[in-house]
Amino acid sequence: MRKAIYVRFVVIALITAVLCGVISAALFALNEEEQTRGHLSALCFAVSRIYEVNPDALYLSGFADGGRVTIVAPDGTVLADSSASADTMENHGRREEIIRANAKTPVTVSRKSETLAAPFMYATIKLSDGNILRLAREYSGIGGGIIHQLPIVIAALTVALFIAAFTANTFTKKVIYPLEKAADDIAAGSYDALSGGGYYEVEKITGRIKALLDKINKSQQETAAEKYKIEYILSGMPEGFVLLDADKKIQLAGKSAKKIFRCKSVVAGRDISVLTRNVKIAESVQKAVTENSFGIFDLNIDDAVYSVRVSPVSEGEFGALGVTILLVDVTAERRAQSLRSEFFTNASHELKTPITSIMGFSQMLENGLVDRQKSAEICARISAESQRMSNLIADILTISRLESETAAAETESVDLGEVASGVSDALAFQAREANVAVQLERAEVRVNANRQQMHDLLNNLVDNAIKYNVPNGSVTVSVQSQKRGAVIMVADTGIGIAPAAQGRIFERFYRIGAGSGKVVAGTGLGLAIVKHIVSGLSGEIELESAAGKGTRVTVVLPEYRPSV
Ligand code: ADP
Repeated sequence: MRKAIYVRFVVIALITAVLCGVISAALFALNEEEQTRGHLSALCFAVSRIYEVNPDALYLSGFADGGRVTIVAPDGTVLADSSASADTMENHGRREEIIRANAKTPVTVSRKSETLAAPFMYATIKLSDGNILRLAREYSGIGGGIIHQLPIVIAALTVALFIAAFTANTFTKKVIYPLEKAADDIAAGSYDALSGGGYYEVEKITGRIKALLDKINKSQQETAAEKYKIEYILSGMPEGFVLLDADKKIQLAGKSAKKIFRCKSVVAGRDISVLTRNVKIAESVQKAVTENSFGIFDLNIDDAVYSVRVSPVSEGEFGALGVTILLVDVTAERRAQSLRSEFFTNASHELKTPITSIMGFSQMLENGLVDRQKSAEICARISAESQRMSNLIADILTISRLESETAAAETESVDLGEVASGVSDALAFQAREANVAVQLERAEVRVNANRQQMHDLLNNLVDNAIKYNVPNGSVTVSVQSQKRGAVIMVADTGIGIAPAAQGRIFERFYRIGAGSGKVVAGTGLGLAIVKHIVSGLSGEIELESAAGKGTRVTVVLPEYRPSV
């Protein structure tokens, strides 16, 4: 653009200079012609007067200011000439200045000399003797005028050229510079200083560019904010989320999704296989793209279970525009589900055994198949089995009550020592039977809790400490107020718990050695109930146990300290 403006400026300057030169040369020539004409005319008249005194052409030329003097007869015959011999000159009768000559005023004619082939101006006047006096002078004409003016024209051209070049340079600098600067500023991303250099039109352009860039910038900021929002939501989402386009290329992948698939590389824009090569996911994604169908399935990844939902993203008749994959960690739910089904299996199994026994014994009694002595024994067995069933049902009911009412349970200030004492008394018979000594160390310590729940908690712990003890063993129940809260400790000298089982004994229906036949009667729900109650009160349970040496269960609960 700079070059184009430059060239145009110079060409315009050249044309202007040439035109000016030609016009001024033409004017100069016209002016010169006019002057020559007047001068020659006056000379012609003056010489015609001198002719009356001395008609010698040579003499007369002395007054003609360097002009040529010719005397022509009325018939055109050259009588005398100051520059040539009259005899050698042809007849001038047909020449315009001779034809038009009159006696009153001199006539001037400018034309090319036929003899000398150069532009001449002629002035003629009729003399008193009838002859014609002709004065001739070489005359440059318009072409001559131009040649005459050439040095001036060249000088003017040179000056015009310099002025044009200078102006073009200044102009291009002033107009192009702001545009070039604007382009540089835009490229550098700093367009706040965009200016049109004071030129209205350029200001208009830069103003528009500025407004446009502002708009682009704003929409870019909005897009970035939206992207940030989505990324923020995705990064905070525990569920794994992946968005694919119709070519199965990853458009978005949340932090959790990458964590689930253990992917550390950049995945945006790459194929889904970079994230996961799972066949089930690949098939489901393919179906979503081609058949617009949904896929829901569970997937085991490491130790966790994820519910995977693959959905096509479609819009009307356009088919699948993309696919979303959502992975929800359902490990706990699936475990709870399996625990529930295990719970029902176990509960039915546990209930079925005593029912079968009771039914068998009842039929024996009904059919009179046992004698009197035996029947007392059978009645005792029926009673024991009924007790077992009752315990099981009671524990199941406790669990279901705890699950439904933990938050709504009625609370009061409960003296833990009092509850512990009540539990010890209630289990004294069982302890005696098992030949186990129960010792209670109680202090004044209170918790804000549900009394029945505190009873269930202590009852299960002390019951276990007696049940899983050894003959002549002991159980220490202690209730203390410590810095960390109300501490319940139940320690026994019993069979202890193997390290492998220690993490599982709080699970529902988990019983060590279940199925081995040598198991102590129980429901497997006692410690699950304890755990439920403790977590409902935001407490903690600690377990220390060594197989063959004994077990100590410590429960820490928030202590209730009424302000006096
Ligand atoms: P259960 O009704 O079988 O006692 P629990 O939930 O109370 O059910 O206990 C689960 C399992 O933990 C028991 O089957 C038992 O094997 C083990 N256990 C609980 N307490 C003790 C303890 N004090 N000493 C040894 N083993 C224990």
